[in-house]
Amino acid sequence: MAALTRLSKSSFSSLSSLSSVSRISRSLYSGFAPDTSSHGATSYSPRLGSTPNLAVKDTKDRSVQWVFLGSPGVGKGTYASRLSNLLGVPHIATGDLVREELASSGPLSQELSEIVNQGKLVSDEIIINLLSKRLEAGGAKGELGFILDGFPRTIRQAEILEGVTEIDLVLNLKLREDVLLEKCLGRRTCSQCGGNFNVASINVKGANGHPAISMAPLLPPAHCMSKLVTRADDTEEVIKHRIHVYNEKSRPVEEFYRSRGKLLEFDLPGGIPESWPKLLEALNLDDYKEKQSAAA
Ligand code: AMP
Repeated sequence: MAALTRLSKSSFSSLSSLSSVSRISRSLYSGFAPDTSSHGATSYSPRLGSTPNLAVKDTKDRSVQWVFLGSPGVGKGTYASRLSNLLGVPHIATGDLVREELASSGPLSQELSEIVNQGKLVSDEIIINLLSKRLEAGGAKGELGFILDGFPRTIRQAEILEGVTEIDLVLNLKLREDVLLEKCLGRRTCSQCGGNFNVASINVKGANGHPAISMAPLLPPAHCMSKLVTRADDTEEVIKHRIHVYNEKSRPVEEFYRSRGKLLEFDLPGGIPESWPKLLEALNLDDYKEKQSAAA
């Protein structure tokens, strides 16, 4: 109990950079208001009036504070990165922070490599420290807002985050578990340019109430082909364990945000060409690009 209190106190103070990010962005953008009118599912529309209209606002005057949830392999990184480019806010993936720390051969590197390669979660304390450092560095560069990917992953992380800042929207990406496994097994990264690809060609028939789903591979350009690497934690055994850990430790985080009216559920209908336009629609951003370029 004493250890818990200690960690919470230090976590709160080390995450103080989040508060300053929040203060700035809250005055500029107050997020999305839940609208539960359609089909019993929560959908979201931008709050207009005193809030800047997201669809026409210049990116440098606006920031969002979003969280992306979803099982390993669902595509959080892909869609968070696309939305980060579209909205001009940083995409912060705690998995990337962990991998950078691993690659740095710093004091934590050996400990982290064992945890990550077994598909376990890193301690809340380590993750909060890595995230705080990243936010501080971003704050120093004048970054506003964020899309958090892979954080919070435990109820404690969610509580700590809630204690220091307000989250506007939590997007919960969903995909069948058999597809998740195939997608993780197909993931490749170019060791030179860092580009993320997927060599899996997914065609799964509908079953047990789940619709059929097809996803074309996302192949790298020819010059990356010979430099592709697979993440050490993308083996079948470790992926299955990571999905199990998600269901046990992170699934309750969905409920945490659902009960606060912040969760937007999104079932991926297929690969990027099918899912991206539908996701923009669900976020009420479908005409954002055109209005942005018209205003430029
Ligand atoms: P990801 O790239 O999100 O799958 O993360 C890779 C690994 O980093 C995970 O399997 C965990 O070991 C660790 N990790 C990333 N984010 C967190 C977090 N919020 N809490 C605990 N461990 C994390």
